[in-house]
Amino acid sequence: MSAQILDGRALAQELRAEAAAQIAELRMRIDRAPTIAVVQVGDDPAATRYVRSIDRLCQSLGAACRAIALPATTDQADLEATVSHLSADDRVDGILLQLPLPAGLSLDGVLHRLVPEKDLDGIHPINAGLLAQGRPALTPNTPAGGMELLRRYGIEVRGKRAAVVGRSAIVGRPMALLLLQADATVTICHSRTPDLGAVLRECDIIAAAAGRPGLITAEMIKPGATVIDFGTNVLADGSMVGDVDYAGAVEVAGAITPVPGGTGPVTNVMLMQNLIKATRTRLGI
Ligand code: NDP
Repeated sequence: MSAQILDGRALAQELRAEAAAQIAELRMRIDRAPTIAVVQVGDDPAATRYVRSIDRLCQSLGAACRAIALPATTDQADLEATVSHLSADDRVDGILLQLPLPAGLSLDGVLHRLVPEKDLDGIHPINAGLLAQGRPALTPNTPAGGMELLRRYGIEVRGKRAAVVGRSAIVGRPMALLLLQADATVTICHSRTPDLGAVLRECDIIAAAAGRPGLITAEMIKPGATVIDFGTNVLADGSMVGDVDYAGAVEVAGAITPVPGGTGPVTNVMLMQNLIKATRTRLGI
């Protein structure tokens, strides 16, 4: 029997409607639109497209987006001054940094200037530390979206065995911590894990964030398991696939996210949830 498809596009639509209602309420309370500042250094086309997509999303939901485009020649001091200024600006509720920064600029230095309360990507060490301690924090959007898919589709996490493939600070590691917070028993796998299949076959939930097309095959999946595929791999022919061999996995898994159309569409909406949370927390409303 084929797996249940965890439809990220449908969920994103639902979440957008909810976010729009919450933002409308916030606008009444603070008498302005909740505002994201997006800092981009240089003119990388993919980064520019992303900033535009955030701007469109903000507009459609009633939030505001302030795009700050700095020239590729920006030095560390100028970038840090920009982030300090935005951190102190009372009319800015959340800050996004376009990563990676161009060579020669240090993220660590910039993070010191970013107030954790406005860290919409959940990359500040304070937020990462709070998450590690199981305390409320602004969490990275991609894993938060994976958890939202599990929650909205009613997939039980408590007491389940879960494996996360990948340990990056932005996807794998926080996903493992969120699953732990939801009472799963979690194993984190990475490039040095011997016999990945043996680990995955024991798990009821698999979250893949390795960036390796086809890494996880059907025979590595326990029948009926839930598979959340964060992988976003563009093949030579321009098509996009995840880390999971979807055609095989869909016949074994109990539920699975497609790529595209699974975790991807949910990610940006989670950013808006972080904006709502950041605004409420900072203004105490
Ligand atoms: P990174 O390259 O930073 O991390 C990849 C991780 O996968 C590393 O921990 C690495 O292990 C592990 N890994 C690599 N190869 C293997 C292997 N053969 N077996 C087991 N583990 C392996 O990537 P990101 O975390 O930034 O992104 C992961 C994927 O998620 C990418 O495809 C990315 O495009 C996608 N992504 C998707 C988003 C979405 O919205 N859906 C948003 C952000 C990213 P080690 O630490 O040992 O090197």
